[in-house]
Amino acid sequence: MDSLLLTGGRVIDPANRFDSVSDLLITNGKISAIGHDAAKKASQETERMDVSRLVVCPGLIDLHVHLREPGQTAKETIATGTAAAARGGFTSIVCMPNTSPAIDNSGTVALIGERAAQHGAVNVYIAGAITKNIAGEELAPIGSLKRAGVVAISDDGHCIQNNELMRRALEYAKMFDLPVMDHCQDYALVTDGVMHEGYWSTALGLRGWPAAGEEMIVARNTLLAEVTGAHVHCQHISAAGSVRLLREAKKRGLPISGEACPHHFTLTDAAIAGSEKFWREESKANTSLHAAVANHQLPSWPAYDTNFKMNPPLRTAADRDAILEGVIDGTLEIICSDHAPHCDYEKEVEFDYAPFGITGLETELALSLMQLYHSRRLSLSELISRFTVAPARLLRLQKGTLSIGADGDVTIFDPAREWVFDKSATASKSVNSPLHGWPLKGKAVATIVKGKKAWVEQTDLAGV
Ligand SMILES: [Zn+2]
Repeated sequence: MDSLLLTGGRVIDPANRFDSVSDLLITNGKISAIGHDAAKKASQETERMDVSRLVVCPGLIDLHVHLREPGQTAKETIATGTAAAARGGFTSIVCMPNTSPAIDNSGTVALIGERAAQHGAVNVYIAGAITKNIAGEELAPIGSLKRAGVVAISDDGHCIQNNELMRRALEYAKMFDLPVMDHCQDYALVTDGVMHEGYWSTALGLRGWPAAGEEMIVARNTLLAEVTGAHVHCQHISAAGSVRLLREAKKRGLPISGEACPHHFTLTDAAIAGSEKFWREESKANTSLHAAVANHQLPSWPAYDTNFKMNPPLRTAADRDAILEGVIDGTLEIICSDHAPHCDYEKEVEFDYAPFGITGLETELALSLMQLYHSRRLSLSELISRFTVAPARLLRLQKGTLSIGADGDVTIFDPAREWVFDKSATASKSVNSPLHGWPLKGKAVATIVKGKKAWVEQTDLAGV
């Protein structure tokens, strides 16, 4: 029998409203006991891990990750991307279909499934494309994608501009009981914008990506969710107006949801003007981010640093507040990274020409703890629910809980651990993170997938 006993940790399972110092036993890859029973049920051979003073929670889920395999393995592979996930505390991820070729047919789903089973450090779920080759013109074979095992469909990186085509996609998705995840971007409004349209884009002479370019598609999606009754999930929401639209739509009971990425609720577009201007704005406004890092040497970076270029872009302090508010009141019920690795040589060009996207799997938990828990906006249990029950519910995964009999996927983290993110120590194949050298608070120390240690912080629990 294969078993692991975690002793003395603070076990938090939002799905069961459980929060208590407790032991947890995993047997043959499943949660088999919790509380007083756990130690009693453990056998002589059971491996023990002392996790006192650490939080033990259901394995975290990140439903928005770019693994880049097949086709772009210079940026990331299934092996390196899932290793980064494990290091960040994630036991399950959903990979986006904008690979090369795109995941728009059952053969590619099977290929990724096979490779993930072979090389994946964590569970890999797959999002299929909505349209063939993510071109936004012709629907992909949604039924056959579902049969091949996708958990959702998305044209992420792109956005279907034809509203009638999107309506048909939603009708098909509803027939096959699949949520549709949408990267909300109106091409006519955004054109070739590279950063948020506002004061800083003007000051820096960069082309603007207006908030309305996102809000327009969020509004479209609420209308189509109402017409079709299909579930639309709006990805990486960046603008205050989008949060408002989603809040109203959810109040009316529409089948719609939203997600937030840590960079959008931590940083603002002032970062593209360089660290000096960014920190000056933060200290003037006395933000929670400034309070969190004020005792450390403030991280510095130059203006036009392409590691601050992502799609949708960083926006204003008011937008950042609105995203935080959306996560707090449950309008944006899910937190995810939009982990988007790119090679150095691709990012080391003028801001206009650099690809959009940053890595995020290893910094996501810390930023979320800093901006939501340490700043007293959410309890630990509430924060954990955004990474567990909420994504599991959307995608109908049998995950995200420590119920007896559930898969033995467990994340162990220290919410108070202070550390500095060093891009040279990342498990990802890419280093395009704006957070190199940042003082962070909160860190995963062990990630357990189906009862097996997918990753353990060497300094902490090794040899226990
Ligand atoms: Zn996207």
